[in-house]
Amino acid sequence: MPIRLGTARAVRGQMTYGAYKLVSHPTGGNDTLPVVIAQGDPRGPVFWLTAGIHGPEHAGLQVLHQLLTPELARALHGTIIAIPALNPAGLRTMQRRAYYHDGDPNRLFPEARPRPPQNPDLDPPSALETAYTRLFAEICSSANYLIDLHNAWTGSVSCVFRDRVLYRNDGTPQQCEQDRHAAASVDERVGEMCAAYGHPVVNDLGVEAYLGEKLHRSTSGAAVNTARIPAITLELGTGHVPDPRYVAASIAGLRNVLRWAGLLPGPREPVTGIKKPKVGFACRRRGAPHTSQQCIVRHLVEPGDLIRRGQPLAEIRDVWGRLVGEKIVHSDYDGWVIGRTHGIVYYAGTELFGLAVRDDAPTLQPYPDSFWAQSAPTSG
Ligand SMILES: [Zn+2]
Repeated sequence: MPIRLGTARAVRGQMTYGAYKLVSHPTGGNDTLPVVIAQGDPRGPVFWLTAGIHGPEHAGLQVLHQLLTPELARALHGTIIAIPALNPAGLRTMQRRAYYHDGDPNRLFPEARPRPPQNPDLDPPSALETAYTRLFAEICSSANYLIDLHNAWTGSVSCVFRDRVLYRNDGTPQQCEQDRHAAASVDERVGEMCAAYGHPVVNDLGVEAYLGEKLHRSTSGAAVNTARIPAITLELGTGHVPDPRYVAASIAGLRNVLRWAGLLPGPREPVTGIKKPKVGFACRRRGAPHTSQQCIVRHLVEPGDLIRRGQPLAEIRDVWGRLVGEKIVHSDYDGWVIGRTHGIVYYAGTELFGLAVRDDAPTLQPYPDSFWAQSAPTSG
């Protein structure tokens, strides 16, 4: 059976194009996802590349537009299924969210625990959640690998966010061992994929925060945790005005991942034009430090800088320019700066930086018991 998605159908040695029906509008017509399929030898693996689930994040569009060429299709041992714009409503409006779903669109893919039984007090899934559930079934039916492209903050370092891979430990010993084995295998492949991409790697939040933020329901989070498909999230710096050096570095990295996965021949190509902070230990992402009061901030470190615990990170002033509060905000961590959060004008309790901080926790861990004690709420 030829590979299909929506109206796009794979053809050996060619690029093909089509559309996948996402959400029907009450005013008539539909939002559709653009689908690009590049197929070489159809006997090889199937690699999904997705981008643009957050509307202002546009680097992924350019990466996919430049990566996917007729020459690439002819060289492939396998098939690439690409969706350059997973959230067309957000892309049109330059908003993170789609206007027909009140929440982060990248938290809607299915999770491993079952939906709760019919309960009249629970909201049904939104049209977008229903559509992404349908799309996820397509991913599960064909994907051997998946990469989802994003942007973090203006000027932030190009990097990989590596998901936590979680396994069940509440079934029979045999079930637990089977799931742990499957999770460990995916986690290992994810580590190899990160190394092949060649950009800095940052583990995602610690398990409690990871689940609390519903990151296990992001595109890559659901791929690894629900479908056990090796997957990573790329963060490509500035979103609304993509940096051409980052776009080129991402294309080189993706071609290296395709080589690692057996879809492309040839040796690794150099990944240049991006910062590669070297701290010598694994890091996880952390939004920190938080402002203790309303203030205007002058950042004292740049994206890519290495930082030490106790190091000054920012001056805080009132709007008249006087140093206020603790005057200088210091780091609580060793690590490096991924980026500055947007703006310099903050209310109390706001995080100033996206940091990569020392992570002593493994990327492979059991789900907490509390996760399985309750059925999945809808995100309504
Ligand atoms: Zn994003």
